[in-house]
Amino acid sequence: MPLPSEVDVAVIGAGSAGVAAGRRLLAAKLNFIVLEARARIGGRAWTVEAGGFPLDVGCGWLHSADRNPWTKIAEAEALTVDRSSPPWGKPALEYGFSAAAQREFREAMAEFYQRLDEASEKHRDRPLADFLEPGGKWNSMLQAISTYVNGVELDRASVRDYEAYDDSGVNWRVAEGYGTAISVAARALPFALDCAVKLIDHSGKRLRIETAQGVLSTRAVIVTVPSQLIAEESIRFTPALPAKLKAAAGLPLGLADKTFLALADAERFSEESRIFGKLHAEGAANYHIRPFGRPVIECYFGGKLARELEDAGEDAFGAFAIDELASLVGNDLRPKLKLLASSAWARDPLARGSYSYALPGHEDDRARLASPVNDRLFFGGEACSPEHFTTAHGAYEAGVTAAEQAIAALAKA
Ligand SMILES: Cc1cc2nc3c(=O)[nH]c(=O)nc-3n(C[C@H](O)[C@H](O)[C@H](O)COP(=O)(O)OP(=O)(O)OC[C@H]3O[C@@H](n4cnc5c(N)ncnc54)[C@H](O)[C@@H]3O)c2cc1C
Repeated sequence: MPLPSEVDVAVIGAGSAGVAAGRRLLAAKLNFIVLEARARIGGRAWTVEAGGFPLDVGCGWLHSADRNPWTKIAEAEALTVDRSSPPWGKPALEYGFSAAAQREFREAMAEFYQRLDEASEKHRDRPLADFLEPGGKWNSMLQAISTYVNGVELDRASVRDYEAYDDSGVNWRVAEGYGTAISVAARALPFALDCAVKLIDHSGKRLRIETAQGVLSTRAVIVTVPSQLIAEESIRFTPALPAKLKAAAGLPLGLADKTFLALADAERFSEESRIFGKLHAEGAANYHIRPFGRPVIECYFGGKLARELEDAGEDAFGAFAIDELASLVGNDLRPKLKLLASSAWARDPLARGSYSYALPGHEDDRARLASPVNDRLFFGGEACSPEHFTTAHGAYEAGVTAAEQAIAALAKA
């Protein structure tokens, strides 16, 4: 829709948080608009069509699915929620990783997590890496797992923040795509696409927002852009908000990227299985074989490895995955694999990464980032969630919280 000159609330960003905030404002019958810099809805939730399948290059798993608001919304939108268990809940295929070695690794991982649980209660904040067993045989694999979970290696992330994350352990998927669910849920919202916000001037009685499509006046703003973009001042605030920028800088985005390969002769592998990339290399990739039973391999890369491959150019992820899978399974696999799609979230100027982690000593920055300013500026992206950060449902909840704060503030004014 064309940009109005006045609304009561402007929501900045149409990802999971912005869509959730918009739905809450719609239910409250407020006059509002969602401003989105991209030409599409969803942000880091993005389903692309390739090889005849809807593929999530951003979020894919409904984590804590039994209490995840997107599960209900997807079902209400007549989308298919697939309840089969995730591949990480069962042993991996034994290419280069024997059943006995997997058992040993699982034990080392359980002991490491036990140390983290105890540590967060006893100590001041420290990096997760402090709790590795010195010289431990499985340390590099634990690093690799951290790059999937946190988007960074263990030395970068806070133990207290990590331990604050709460998860029900139930993981489902939307067959049509998580990104599809979030964009479908935005259907009834008023939004302006290709409408990057450049400046929020909150010095006057009303807020003045400068966008790529002109100027807008509002009573309240809900900011849902990624924390790293706030820290880098990709949106400027007048007067400046140094405390907010400092909090956002304590919550940078880690990196995780996905590559999808088409797999001919798929029946040689069981459905929903997985293969670990090179063991004992900190940058190990992970391969989910035949998700939803499709003839596809979903490859997951995190941390430094993902960064190196993004830097190496567009085809680097596919080439790496095909080489590694051929070396693990056998060279006859090579001609059966074809690149379908890849992400590059760090190179994306409207994301700059995949999901937030807290630097050691910054475990309180999520609450600082989420706190409203003068009851007119509200914050609600994934990084603001106290217990479900990094996820699309955490973003949803943070978006709803920010919308409710704005509704209450406007009712008082
Ligand atoms: C590879 C990958 C795998 C993931 N896997 C999972 C998973 O399995 N399960 C899960 O729950 N989560 C997962 N996540 C995380 C999840 O995708 C995010 O936490 C969530 O989507 C973030 O939502 P958000 O609304 O906070 O931010 P975003 O989705 O980033 O939305 C912010 C929006 O703001 C827009 N924007 C930025 N700057 C401006 C500006 N100046 N003006 C206007 N608009 C602007 C952006 O374009 C974007 O649309 C994954 C993420 C990635 C990248």
